[in-house]
Amino acid sequence: MTLDLLIEGTLLWCGPQELIDGGAVGLSDGRVAWYGRAADAPEARRSVSGDWYLMPGVVDHHVHIAFAEPARLLRGGLTRVHDLAWPVDQVMPLAERSLLPGFDGPVVRSYGPMLTAPGGYCSRAEWAPEGTAWELSGLGQVDAAVARLAGLGVIGVKVALNAEAGPTLDDLMLGAVVDAAHRHGLPVAAHAQGRGQARRALLAGVDEFAHTPWTERIPEAEVAALARRCRMHSTLNIHASDGNGEGLDNAVANLGAFWRAGGDVRYGTDLGNGPIPEGVHAGEVALLAGAGLGPEDVLASMAGYRLRLGSRDGVIALGADPRENLAAVTDVRAVAVQNRVIGPGVSPGA
Ligand SMILES: [Zn+2]
Repeated sequence: MTLDLLIEGTLLWCGPQELIDGGAVGLSDGRVAWYGRAADAPEARRSVSGDWYLMPGVVDHHVHIAFAEPARLLRGGLTRVHDLAWPVDQVMPLAERSLLPGFDGPVVRSYGPMLTAPGGYCSRAEWAPEGTAWELSGLGQVDAAVARLAGLGVIGVKVALNAEAGPTLDDLMLGAVVDAAHRHGLPVAAHAQGRGQARRALLAGVDEFAHTPWTERIPEAEVAALARRCRMHSTLNIHASDGNGEGLDNAVANLGAFWRAGGDVRYGTDLGNGPIPEGVHAGEVALLAGAGLGPEDVLASMAGYRLRLGSRDGVIALGADPRENLAAVTDVRAVAVQNRVIGPGVSPGA
């Protein structure tokens, strides 16, 4: 095997408690094709190395990519982002382009628009262009809407349950969305806001929470059920930048309880909502640690849990060991993705 690209560092973090001193990662055809000790590496057409701490590329599980510059996100360490609501005529072509080798940005995956009740969130939100919400007025529309999204290649379906911003889908409609999405093999992510909305989402069988619920503390029995069934996209820092102290306290407490109950936490920032840096977000990372995740658990939530052969998420090289200081995740020296390597630590001709 000849690798297209080999990146070597001082230490490779493959996943919790899995470290390789003098580790390296090889990419071929845009995917992780090999990893191990650099000394054992197969031949490579190009190799780069540095006094670097390597980890899998970071995935932001909740963004609105139109508010960011994809090239900057990539240089900031994000190699994959999940767009959680945008008009399909804009975001789906971008998602397709993002898979092409020359694309200068992270791989973009999309959930399409938010499915909502007529007049419901986010159909009237200032930030959301026409088409960011699909308003469903009857059961008959549910199957067609979900089938259309599946045909467009979304990776999930998002429902808005924001009772503070307007009407929400009733339980029958919500259940129908969940059923239709599951028939297409798609997970459902809920935006739950307002008293009792997280419970409604749980009872309807949604798979993911687009945000850690922040309206209220979730009762313990519900947390246990959530942890068994759902993934939680963190998005804690949005409340800090909003100055919503109560919301932040609730979200951090809920995420901590969810985590302690064995729940699956995914790093997500809601990029585009307020002043969020284009790259890995130090504030979100610090709040994940504040919720009780250990340093390696935080890294796992950002990196698909571990390095995997066949992954398209590539590798990032940090200037310091993030296990010792999580802020090092923002000190990105190089990003190896597809078959190329970029960043301030890499000379163009290397
Ligand atoms: Zn969002």
